Amino acid sequence: MTMEEHLFLKQLMVDQLEELQRKADGTVSDLLLLSIHSADELDTSAMDADRSFTLRIRDRESKLINKIKAALRRMEEGDYGECEMCGEDIGIARLRARPVTTFCIHCKTKLENQEKIVSGF
Ligand SMILES: [Zn+2]
Repeated sequence: MTMEEHLFLKQLMVDQLEELQRKADGTVSDLLLLSIHSADELDTSAMDADRSFTLRIRDRESKLINKIKAALRRMEEGDYGECEMCGEDIGIARLRARPVTTFCIHCKTKLENQEKIVSGF
């Protein structure tokens, strides 16, 4: 990986991280608003459904935030872009598409096939 590619991917992740954190802050105030409003509502079930949906998204976003943070840490430590399973370099095209990935395309495909087999039973 060239220095330029390294910086590009880092910027990509920093931008994504900032956006996710901004969104996460928004979600928190949305939730606060929801709970204030629902206190006056007779039918709170729709509100509850809405809230659990929001929380599910938030859960997924916070997982992604953690993945990005871990990837940025790997960058600092110089381990970034190496496959966790086979130790080979992950292709730059794959990193551009999914900067937080820790597996090369071969290992990822292998893992996904294994998951399919397991869930098939
Ligand atoms: Zn691999």
